[in-house]
Amino acid sequence: ATETEEKDLIVIGGGVAGYVAAIKAGQEGLKVACIEKRGSLGGTCLNVGCIPSKSLLNNSHLYHQILHDTKNRGIDVKEVSLNLQQMMKAKDTSVQGLTKGVEFLFKKNNVEYFKGTGAFVDPHTVAVNLVGGGETSVRGKNIFIATGSEATPFPGLEIDEKKVITSTGAIALEQVPKKMVVIGGGIIGLEMASVWSRLGSEVTIVEFLGQIGGPGMDADISKNIQKTLQKQGLKFKLNTKVTNGDASGEGVKISTEAAKGGKEEVLDADVVLVAIGRRPYTAGLGLENIGIETDTRGRLVIDSEYRTGPHAHIRVIGDCTFGPMLAHKAEEEAVAAVEFLTKSYGHVNYNAIPSVMYTHPEVAWVGQNEAELKAQGVKYKVGTFPFTANSRAKTNLDTDGLVKFLADAETDRILGVHIVGPNAGEMIAEGTLALEYGASTEDVGRTSHAHPTLAEAFKEAAMATYGKAIHY
Ligand code: FAD
Ligand code: NAD
Repeated sequence: ATETEEKDLIVIGGGVAGYVAAIKAGQEGLKVACIEKRGSLGGTCLNVGCIPSKSLLNNSHLYHQILHDTKNRGIDVKEVSLNLQQMMKAKDTSVQGLTKGVEFLFKKNNVEYFKGTGAFVDPHTVAVNLVGGGETSVRGKNIFIATGSEATPFPGLEIDEKKVITSTGAIALEQVPKKMVVIGGGIIGLEMASVWSRLGSEVTIVEFLGQIGGPGMDADISKNIQKTLQKQGLKFKLNTKVTNGDASGEGVKISTEAAKGGKEEVLDADVVLVAIGRRPYTAGLGLENIGIETDTRGRLVIDSEYRTGPHAHIRVIGDCTFGPMLAHKAEEEAVAAVEFLTKSYGHVNYNAIPSVMYTHPEVAWVGQNEAELKAQGVKYKVGTFPFTANSRAKTNLDTDGLVKFLADAETDRILGVHIVGPNAGEMIAEGTLALEYGASTEDVGRTSHAHPTLAEAFKEAAMATYGKAIHY
């Protein structure tokens, strides 16, 4: 084993948290190394998460639209067929372009890239088991752990990524399954169900809770998107838990029962997607050698400056610690953690981190939902505006959904924005900025928004919160 010079910062993990921290540290003039074991940079997000899933969501939407939504627009289309192999290639091209881009940014910002698995030998030394064989080690004054997360397995159902799949298998199927069962109606479940249903699969989603989209999604918004997804052909079994799975035969048999006990049913599927959440990944990191502990959910425990208890020079960012498992949250933490090193201060506003589900229409929200405000006893007012009354949505023949504002009843300060509608994921940026700046709904309602745009629905929902919308 060889040893290199001591670094100011070693980052273990080249996902969004890790690569952003490494680039930022390079920009700040630190001597930095980043260790990544998968052979390419960008982590879950660029390789098997955000990016490939959005490529498939975009292209499957186009395919579905060409099949079902052209005639009334005056476009006659003949002989439409799916070339799944090419759709996967297009996805791979996007992924490769972006992961190579990060490698380029490493070079540009003087980040030394180690392709291999990092493991703590002692609090300042990381051994690297190199991808191509051999071993080296690096010493660092500071070390960031950014090892991310992995799919939570379903007990008794062995993942083979062909018949019983996680999202990683779901972005790489070689054929459209005839019947697909999705365990879990959270964001991964709904995005992947959308892709395969659009491409021709008969998809049933089994969700333990009484609503889809996870508990963060506002209940009104969840009901609204569920109706639209049902119109698109998705089937839902809510308040239902999967109790068992059997993949020993040709297909997979999934046993379910009503969440509160009682009614049992067996569902047949060619492919089963397990999408019941993700858990922090810290296997093989040698944590036992430095005495860092995880909580009951496997998350590395940190303080408000991302430091681990036993070692103030070791910080943790991204999916392997607390907070929502989102790429942009990881990115904010990466910048803040480096700023703690170089400037002694850093900040992430966890109340203003948007969530987006990239179905069609998209769902996006920021801040608190009605159930959360009620639980806290906050007095609030509500303003909504439907896309059926928005001129641009009407011209686009794409009018499903609404914008909903929640604001403090007395001060009018915006507490939450919830959108289901076309391009909601772009529109939520305005809501996030408003929340970050502590804006009132009147601030938004009195701001000029270009006509005709979808964003006018955003303005009018704000107007409906402190007064009245004009067009509804
Ligand atoms: P990761 O991206 O998981 O990166 C950690 C990296 O560390 C990995 O590459 C791993 O190989 C490496 N590693 C682990 N241990 C070691 C070790 N010992 N040595 C060296 N390297 C190691 N989020 C969004 O915001 N928007 C989306 O649209 C979105 N879509 C998603 C779709 C899917 C299908 C999935 C699964 C996730 C999606 N996410 C999305 C979540 C997003 O991918 C994560 O929040 C994000 O990747 C977290 O970044 P991270 O750097 O903390 O972890
Ligand atoms: P999730 O926690 O969002 O949803 C899992 C769902 O499975 C929950 O609704 C839960 O009630 C249900 N469930 C759990 N056990 C069940 C059982 N036995 N039977 C039936 N239902 C059951 O998790 P996910 O969808 O797997 O996503 C994982 C993470 O990845 C999330 O943190 C998410 O934010 C992130 N992600 C984000 C995006 C995005 O931002 N667009 C996309 C994909 C993934």
